[in-house]
Amino acid sequence: MTQRPESKLFYQSRRRRPLLDQARGVYMWDVDGKRYLDGSSGAMVCNIGHSNPHVLECMRRQMDKSSFGYRLHFETEPAEQLAQKLASLAPEGLEKVFFVSGGSEAVESAIKLARQHAVATGDSQRYKVISRYPSYHGCTLGALALTGYAPMTAPFDPMMQSMPKIPAPRAYLDGLDPEDEATGKFYADMLEEAILQEGPETVLAFMVEPVGGASTGALPPPKGYMQRISEICRRYGVLLIHDEVMTGGGRTGAFFAGDHWQVEPDILVLSKGLGAGYAPLGAMIAHERIVEPVLDKGGFIHGYTYAGNPLACAAGLAVIEEIEAHQMMANASSIGAELKAGLQQLMQRHELIGDVRGKGLLLAFELVADRETMAPLPREAGAFDKLVEIAYDKGLIIYSRRTRGGYTGDHFLVCPPMIATANHLDEILTTLDASLTTFTNDLKPDLLKAG
Ligand code: PLP
Repeated sequence: MTQRPESKLFYQSRRRRPLLDQARGVYMWDVDGKRYLDGSSGAMVCNIGHSNPHVLECMRRQMDKSSFGYRLHFETEPAEQLAQKLASLAPEGLEKVFFVSGGSEAVESAIKLARQHAVATGDSQRYKVISRYPSYHGCTLGALALTGYAPMTAPFDPMMQSMPKIPAPRAYLDGLDPEDEATGKFYADMLEEAILQEGPETVLAFMVEPVGGASTGALPPPKGYMQRISEICRRYGVLLIHDEVMTGGGRTGAFFAGDHWQVEPDILVLSKGLGAGYAPLGAMIAHERIVEPVLDKGGFIHGYTYAGNPLACAAGLAVIEEIEAHQMMANASSIGAELKAGLQQLMQRHELIGDVRGKGLLLAFELVADRETMAPLPREAGAFDKLVEIAYDKGLIIYSRRTRGGYTGDHFLVCPPMIATANHLDEILTTLDASLTTFTNDLKPDLLKAG
C-alpha cells in the first residue's frame, strides 16, 4: 500500500483506509490500482453508480451559473424544479418540500415540523415520537432519541428525551410467517398498545422505515403491517412519518418504498439516493395540511444554511432524470430479484447464512450459529467485521451491522447501484461465496458451539 503521512482526519476509529483514486459505474479504484466492486453503493447512497456523465454535466452547468444562493435572499431554479419533481413523485397531498443536506437533518426537520404543527393546531401536549428497535434515524441528538440501537445511543442517554420504541417486525426471529396477515397485525398492534400506554393525547408521531435499513438489515414489513400502522396512526391523531432516507430514490423498485403498500404518510424524508453521492442533499416532504397551519402561525422555526443549495439540487434533479431515462427502478426490481435468488442459493452452500431478505436492491443476509434456532454467532467471532474485511481484500465492498438483541447478530447488506448488470451479480456472488468459505474455514469450531 502507498505510504502516507499520519492523517489529521478522524472518523469513528484510527483505522486507515486505502486512498481512493477514481470511481466509475459500479467500480472504484484506489491509488495502488486495486479495483473494488461497490456492492453497497457506499452506504446505500450511490444508487445510479459513480461518475454519471449527465449528472456531472448538469452540475458543471449549474456551477458556471451560481453555486450558492442563500434561501432568505434568493429562490433558485434547481431548488424549485426539484421541489416540483419530488412533489409529483410523492403520494397525493405531499406537496411541500423542505431541503436539507443529509438524512439526520431531514429527520430533525420532520420531528420539528410535526411538533410545530401540534403547537399551531392547539395540540401542544403531544410531544412523544414513537419509533422502533432496532432502528437508525441519524446521529444528531433529536434523531438519535428515535434511534433504537444502544451502542450508538447509550453515551448520550442523559442528554436526550427518551422516546418510546416498539419492536421492529423481525418475523424471521420470532418464527412467524411474514406473508401471513396475522403476523403484520401482531407487530402493528404493538403500536396501538404503545400509544395507549403512553396516553394518546401525548403522542405526536410514529416514525418508521418502510423497509428497514442498516439496523434491521433490509427488513421488509410483514403483510398488512404498513396499512394497519397507518390506520392506527389516523385513529389516534398520531402523525405518520416515513423515514425513507435509505429507501427513497428507487432502490426498492419504487421511488418511495411506501408506494409498494400505497400508504400515505403525513411527512416523509429522503436523502441518500437523492444526492446519490454527487452532493450532500436531503429533503422532507410534508402534506399541505401539516405545513399550512405552521406557516399561518408565524412560520417554521428551523433551517440550515446550505438548505436548497442550487448545486446540490441540480445534482438531485439530474439523478432523477437518469433514474427515469434508464428505467433504473425496473432494473432494481428485476436484478434485485436475481441477486436475492443468488443469495438464497449461497444459503445452500453456506450453513452460516440463516436468512436472506430485502426488496429490490436493498438486500441483506444474516449469519447465524444455528439455522434452526437462529442463534447468533458469538461476538468473539467478529463476523460483522471479519467477513466485510475478507470481501474487501477480494475486491468486493459490502456493508454490515451487528444489531441483534442490541449487540449480537450479524447482517450484511448487499446493495449494488441500480445500474448493476448480470455480470456484476456474478462477480458479487462469486466473491461472496469465496469470502464466506474463507470466513467459515477461519472460524474456530468452539466459537460455533458457543453460539
Ligand atoms: N435514517 C435512515 C433510515 C438512515 O439509514 C440514515 C443513515 O444511514 C439516516 C437516517 C441518517 O442519515 P445521514 O447519515 O445522512 O445523516
